[in-house]
Amino acid sequence: MPDCLFCGIAAGEVAATIVSANSRTIAFRDINPQAPVHVLIVPRVHYANLAELGAAEADLLAELVAHAREVAVGEGIVDAGYRVVFNTGQQAGQTVEHVHAHVLGGRPMSWPPG
Ligand code: AMP
Ligand code: ZN
Repeated sequence: MPDCLFCGIAAGEVAATIVSANSRTIAFRDINPQAPVHVLIVPRVHYANLAELGAAEADLLAELVAHAREVAVGEGIVDAGYRVVFNTGQQAGQTVEHVHAHVLGGRPMSWPPG
C-alpha cells in the first residue's frame, strides 16, 4: 500500500528496530514505548485493521498472534505476564491503518485500560 508506514517498515524501506521476522510477519520496537517492552507485530501484506485481516486471512492472523507470543518469550515477560492489544478504529485510538498487535510488558498494568 503506497504511503503506508508499516508497509514501508515491512519492506525495509523505513528504518525500524527489528526484533524478529519471518516470511509473513515482522516484529519491531515501538518508537514511543508505553512499557519497558513494547513491540509491534505486523503482517507483511497490508490490511487496515484486525477485522479486515481476520475476515480475509484467519491463518495469517493466527501466525501474527503466534509471533506475538514468540516475542513475549524472547523478551522474557511470559512468566510475569504481558498484554497483547489490537487498537481497532478511531475510538480505540488506532493511528496507523495497517493492522498491528502491540505486545506490552515489563511493568504492572492497570485494568480496565483508559
Ligand atoms: P496505534 O495507535 O494502535 O495505531 O499504534 C501505532 C503505534 O505505532 C504507536 O504506538 C506508535 O508509537 C507506533 N509508531 C508510529 N510510528 C512508528 C515508527 N516509525 N516505528 C515504530 N513504531 C511507530
Ligand atoms: Zn500497510
